[in-house]
Amino acid sequence: MTETNRKLLAFIDASPTAWHACANFSARLLAEGYTELKETEIWKLRAGGKYFVCRNGSSLIAFRLPEEPFSGFLMMAAHTDSPAFKLRGRPDAPSAGVYTRLSVERYGSMLCAPWLDRPLAVAGRVTVRENGKIVTKLVNIRRDLALIPNLAIHMDRTANDGKKYDIKTDMLPLFGSEKAMGRMEQIAAEAAGVAEEDLISTDLYLYPRTPGVVFGADGEFIAAPRLDDLQCAFGCFEGFLAAEAGKNAPLLCVFDNEEVGSTTKQGANSDFLADALWRICEALGREFYTSVAASFMASADNAHAVHPNHPEFADSQDRPVMNGGIVIKHHANQKYTTDAVTEAVFAEICRRAGVPVQHYSNRADLRGGTTLGNISTAHVSVDSVDIGLAQLAMHSCFETAGSADTDYLIRAARAYYESGFRRSAEGIEL
Ligand code: ZN
Repeated sequence: MTETNRKLLAFIDASPTAWHACANFSARLLAEGYTELKETEIWKLRAGGKYFVCRNGSSLIAFRLPEEPFSGFLMMAAHTDSPAFKLRGRPDAPSAGVYTRLSVERYGSMLCAPWLDRPLAVAGRVTVRENGKIVTKLVNIRRDLALIPNLAIHMDRTANDGKKYDIKTDMLPLFGSEKAMGRMEQIAAEAAGVAEEDLISTDLYLYPRTPGVVFGADGEFIAAPRLDDLQCAFGCFEGFLAAEAGKNAPLLCVFDNEEVGSTTKQGANSDFLADALWRICEALGREFYTSVAASFMASADNAHAVHPNHPEFADSQDRPVMNGGIVIKHHANQKYTTDAVTEAVFAEICRRAGVPVQHYSNRADLRGGTTLGNISTAHVSVDSVDIGLAQLAMHSCFETAGSADTDYLIRAARAYYESGFRRSAEGIEL
């Protein structure tokens, strides 16, 4: 396994929820000498400084300020959340007089079948009473705690003919015997290091315990939970950290809640990025509008690779393959923000960095998904390109991608941040 894939799988394993992903990025940034800014304080920034700010503990913006005067911000965006099952506040539900199940709701739009018959653990954040205050804590209960059992083929002879999953009946995980009622709260309190009566509330999610792997005849593929979009978040982050100073300020945002439409206070459809840019400009005595007009955004979210068993779902030409490098996404109605100018900028950066580029658009009669680009640029209107890495089984709890592609993204992100991107009357310099 390559060093990059080892690190990617370790990051995914340590990031079962958006809060954990954000905490892991924060810890790394602090170790690399970045200063954490608080939204509740006035920002004092200096040229040459390295900073980051979190919102809700699940979205994060990191940036560096060049020593020299700079023209704008080179930004990348990815998302920290993935579809999962969220535990209700009172998480236990009796069943058949002999079992206890966990009571769950769906977060985002997942493929249900892969969640069945595999060990599941629980992670998220909880609030506790501590020294008279409400304190938030992250918990990651790394145990085989629950499992959603399939119905045997003998009881559902049509199970292989197309199955409709009813979340309220089919997707409740088995958690214990009838004696396990109330145990989930006890276990969560224990994980948070408090007495049960001091546990106030929870944002807890199931996650699959299956560890990520590299597979294939020659290790061509990687399979793991949450590749959408932690693979892109990790690749952009590593490229951001590795980049030498360029002519612009490098900025990375990772947003929560992409899987539920981004319309939360910390999602891409919030003022988080606009606020951060405004505050950076204000602290440096720069003009906001000219700074934004000189900026560029690359939104990175995974893309659909052509499927080995179902190539008919791909467009006949724009059909990316795993290990084919950066995917540039196109959509005539601008669900993806790419246009001729922004494609040219990013493709040219990749060409100069020796990173292959391929193209994706939805098969013309399929609706496709949405992503961060056109949502965040509605708040901060900059030229933007939508990119990603090719993968299979998007929104499964165990997805497959190319084992060479994360390195391509790291190289592309680094080259992008180091580029001399600047517009003039004559054209765009890179
Ligand atoms: Zn995504």
